[in-house]
Amino acid sequence: MKYVSTRDTSKTFEFKDVFLKGLADDGGLFIPKSLKKFGEEEIRDFQKLNYSELAKKIIYPFIGNFMSESDLGKIIDNSYSVFRKDNVVEMVQIGDRSVLELFHGPTLAFKDVAMQLLGNFYEYYLSNNNQKINIVVATSGDTGAAAIDAIKGKKNVNIFVLHPDNRVSPVQRKLMTTGKYENVFNIAVKGNFDDCQNLVKSMFSDKNFSNQINMSGVNSINWARIIAQSVYYFYSYFLVKCDDQPTNFSVPTGNFGDVYAGYLAKKLGLPINKLIVATNQNDILHRAISKGSYQAEKVSETISPSMDIQIASNFERLIFDLNNEDDVQTSKDMRNIKEIGNYVLDNQKLNKIRENFLSVSMSENETLEIISSVYNKFNVVLDPHTAIGYGAFDKYNLSGNNIVLGTAHPSKFPDAIFRAIKTNADLPNELMFILDEKENYDMIENDVEKVKQHIKDRL
Ligand SMILES: *Cc1c(COP(=O)(O)O)cnc(C)c1O
Repeated sequence: MKYVSTRDTSKTFEFKDVFLKGLADDGGLFIPKSLKKFGEEEIRDFQKLNYSELAKKIIYPFIGNFMSESDLGKIIDNSYSVFRKDNVVEMVQIGDRSVLELFHGPTLAFKDVAMQLLGNFYEYYLSNNNQKINIVVATSGDTGAAAIDAIKGKKNVNIFVLHPDNRVSPVQRKLMTTGKYENVFNIAVKGNFDDCQNLVKSMFSDKNFSNQINMSGVNSINWARIIAQSVYYFYSYFLVKCDDQPTNFSVPTGNFGDVYAGYLAKKLGLPINKLIVATNQNDILHRAISKGSYQAEKVSETISPSMDIQIASNFERLIFDLNNEDDVQTSKDMRNIKEIGNYVLDNQKLNKIRENFLSVSMSENETLEIISSVYNKFNVVLDPHTAIGYGAFDKYNLSGNNIVLGTAHPSKFPDAIFRAIKTNADLPNELMFILDEKENYDMIENDVEKVKQHIKDRL
């Protein structure tokens, strides 16, 4: 499979470039030059596979000659052996909908599913090619922990994680900062998540700097993450599938990565009906999909911090689709978004979006109410992100199989849980120890030169 950038389709790239670079040099996102759908029969046969076997079938066509099918199989088995469930994920029925629990990995959020795989991809590639790289990543709380766990102690790779100071939950922070690994560096930025994301983007686009440190990225725009995430849409589809009812997914959304993976699954042939983009009050995507105005507002802090985002980086991939894969138009649109801060979707584009997506924005109070009503009715504690996905189905009357992506374990957000139901959400026993460990991180201003200097000093 060959890849192109959403801003220039004349040059092609291999999976290796796409994976290691994350972002194209022209600022665009990588996208397959063409996609091959799985046949209906092929998809029906997927039902018989366990999670790792299915992951191999879905991921292999995307990686070209990056590694052999048998090496990929070994890496997938190895990556998923660290999960607390044999088949990585678990489906639970809560009332009239199913919740796909994706948080049984080492750092209690769905991001582990893709990140554990990426960590092993790096190790494989770097040791075979005798290269060293430095990963720099911005996090709203969960990506950082998942990336650190995937990279910690691995040879030939360092990881620098920028999180917004005071805007991630203490448990999220401790999952990042309590490890003792020489290749892990945590930075608290005095700013919000979008500031962190912008710092990383501008370090990438400074070619002097990014080449000098051999910089690589694992943010949610990384295509390898998207492919890995599309696997659980396939897997869960069969877990709930009964007769010919349509299947809908509700996806707690920030950067539009996870829900885009669902869209990819649909493009690969999985008969998904609707994907609900469920946001908190940072609802740029809901405003775009419901009103046609993609316009960033100020980020507000919520009890679902992993979705506190006003720039949904992966949205560019959808804009490219809406532009019928026109790279020039996409570059123009992205320039406008950057310069004027607005992108208007006309009716034709909105209709096209609505064939696949619906959207919802949930207030803080609504989120707390969902946590409390689900707890009272079903005795299950949902984390605030999952609660938004769960509640989103109440805003639409969709018949069929309704699946909510359970993106985080409630113990990552104990304060919100306590507010909602006056109950403590405990960490799984294996992770209790982080509460008393010493934390290790540096505080830096929201200033790209200072961050660059800090990174150089550490190398
Ligand atoms: C990252 C994250 C999200 C948002 O996922 P995107 O791919 O950025 O849309 C939702 N919930 C949780 C718990 C997360 O960690």
